[in-house]
Amino acid sequence: MKQQDKPFPAWPKMLRDVSMADYSTLRAGGRAAGLIDVESGDELRVLLDYLNKNRYPHRVIGKGSNILVTDAGYAGVIIRLRGKFNRISRKDERAGRGIIRIGAGCSLAKLISWCSKEALSGLEFMHGIPGSVGGAIRMNAGAWGKEIGSLVQVLELVDSNGQVCSLEKTGLKFSYRRLSLADGENATGLGDTIITGVTLLLRPDAEAEIRSRCADYQTRRKGKQPVGVASAGSFFKNPANDSAGRLIEAAGLKGISCGDAMVSPVHANFIVNNGTAGATEIIDLMHRVQKGVWKKFAVQLEPEVEII
Ligand SMILES: Cc1cc2nc3c(=O)[nH]c(=O)nc-3n(C[C@H](O)[C@H](O)[C@H](O)COP(=O)(O)OP(=O)(O)OC[C@H]3O[C@@H](n4cnc5c(N)ncnc54)[C@H](O)[C@@H]3O)c2cc1C
Repeated sequence: MKQQDKPFPAWPKMLRDVSMADYSTLRAGGRAAGLIDVESGDELRVLLDYLNKNRYPHRVIGKGSNILVTDAGYAGVIIRLRGKFNRISRKDERAGRGIIRIGAGCSLAKLISWCSKEALSGLEFMHGIPGSVGGAIRMNAGAWGKEIGSLVQVLELVDSNGQVCSLEKTGLKFSYRRLSLADGENATGLGDTIITGVTLLLRPDAEAEIRSRCADYQTRRKGKQPVGVASAGSFFKNPANDSAGRLIEAAGLKGISCGDAMVSPVHANFIVNNGTAGATEIIDLMHRVQKGVWKKFAVQLEPEVEII
């Protein structure tokens, strides 16, 4: 891996030369020069200040369920939000209100379970998505025709210079698997900006109803997707008015493989790692699928998985 010439950051708790296969649900990926878990906003700001002053590249990840680091590796510092970033609280205690504030490091599974116990509805459709709140907001994750962006009221952000700000929903533009920051008529990508927390608007409902809807979504998911095998969920974005899985299957690519990387026989839009596939094999398979679909349908499939 290409390493920087300068000495590695001397930061407490920094893990060095880390295999990103251990931090990705695809169980594949090159090595990162450093990885650090930060526990609080203050710690994050001090770290960003240090990394920026020393010009170390950095990137935040959540649960690694939508990323693939190439086998060339990442010559920078991967940051994960832990500790205080896992907190969930009610923002408004008045009866009938469902406004909650969640730290971006919190897992969706913990959040959905908390909401069920608190009898707050709105996130059931996310049941079974194995990410963090920050990753889900960044990707505008969704399922069954719904997206998390529609519930967002306020985002708490730290920009690449360590500046903290909050943006109301009017300053945010959610589109298919993408969050942009609205800037007048224009919208810009999030870039290096880190999501640290979010306020969501949910609605009160009976706990039993919420649990039953979660169970229903889980059953539907299990019936359609490969279970118990390493993947990053849907590998490609759906083209407008079509489904990537349908195109891949119709192009005769379901079940093809590169080493241990395979187009799932269960769902053609899932690339699964059957054992020891590296990022290169997964990316080779991705290119084969893109070429095959282009040849048959003249449609360019765009990966949903973020390749780092
Ligand atoms: C089995 C399976 C099923 C899935 N099903 C679905 C589904 O139904 N719908 C769906 O939309 N997705 C699905 N996914 C994909 C994935 O779970 C979601 O995209 C999820 O929201 C990603 O969250 P994460 O925390 O894992 O993000 P990561 O994969 O860690 O990161 C994804 C991107 O977000 C950025 N990011 C992460 N945290 C932050 C932060 N705090 N601030 C700024 N940027 C951040 C990262 O830099 C990266 O660019 C599935 C994945 C798997 C493995």
